[in-house]
Amino acid sequence: MKERYDVVIIGGSIAGVSAALTCVNRGKTVAVIANGAETSNLYKAEKITNYPGIPAASGKEISEILRRQLEESGADLIHGRALNVIPLGDSFGAAVGSEFTSCSAVIIAAGITREKLYPGEDEFLGRGVSYCATCDGMLYRGKTVAVIGNGEEAVHDADFLESIGCTVLRMTKQIPYEIRGGMKADTLIAGGEEYKVDGIFIIKDTISVTKLVPGLEYSDGAIVTDRQMNTSIPGVFAAGDCTGKPYQLAKAAGEGNIAALSACAYIDKQKKEN
Ligand SMILES: Cc1cc2nc3c(=O)[nH]c(=O)nc-3n(C[C@H](O)[C@H](O)[C@H](O)COP(=O)(O)OP(=O)(O)OC[C@H]3O[C@@H](n4cnc5c(N)ncnc54)[C@H](O)[C@@H]3O)c2cc1C
Repeated sequence: MKERYDVVIIGGSIAGVSAALTCVNRGKTVAVIANGAETSNLYKAEKITNYPGIPAASGKEISEILRRQLEESGADLIHGRALNVIPLGDSFGAAVGSEFTSCSAVIIAAGITREKLYPGEDEFLGRGVSYCATCDGMLYRGKTVAVIGNGEEAVHDADFLESIGCTVLRMTKQIPYEIRGGMKADTLIAGGEEYKVDGIFIIKDTISVTKLVPGLEYSDGAIVTDRQMNTSIPGVFAAGDCTGKPYQLAKAAGEGNIAALSACAYIDKQKKEN
């Protein structure tokens, strides 16, 4: 991961790959922050029959082709989950684990998250609730923490927290969770059982798009864009399912292309003005 790119794209499925290919063709330096291909909605589709040029293929097959195309495109593929995007004056910062990169423009291609926030998650985020063990684990050294999540990253983070001396409650079941506390989160209710904890790590594949970029305008959980895929924040563009219905591959690929062209035009204009 470099310190600085022209464009950072969040999400490495069809919308993100479409955006990356066009940005690279336009001569931009590009990083794509992407979870594993198997996390995408595309991967779950049994059979796609309405994508032009591909008569019939499973979502898994198309995902694998896209990932190879991305790896060979000249864009840097940063494996992992972007935690947030922060405006920094005329640029943006993006965090992945404890690493950080910056860029002139951002394209959000993160798909949709159907997972709802747990009760208390939003209220206690940053006050006993964290999405990143690498970033915040040391704050809980020698303490009791819960790790909610059943993916590889959750297992890895739980192992890491144990290795630094935390007592770790591994919460891997799909049951109702609720977070309670006072100034800080101190209690996890899991499937009706109460656990006293010092911290709670929620390790999902995605960060809800409503949490990813502070200050971005949303409507019904979708990022609001115009036809050029501009969002409410200049320099931030969005494409694919995260901008709302219809949830379709062709729409995601098309929006990725438009978002990329808009991001490149935005960067070129910025360069001319400075
Ligand atoms: C069962 C099923 C069947 C479908 N069938 C069809 C069909 O027949 N035809 C059709 O046109 N469409 C179909 N779709 C819809 C299609 O799959 C989606 O419209 C398309 O995948 C959207 O692409 P996307 O790139 O916007 O999002 P996705 O494909 O969902 O990819 C988003 C990616 O971004 C990643 N991501 C999210 N947040 C972060 C983060 N913070 N950091 C890093 N990465 C992140 C996700 O993990 C994911 O990998 C189907 C969907 C499903 C679920």
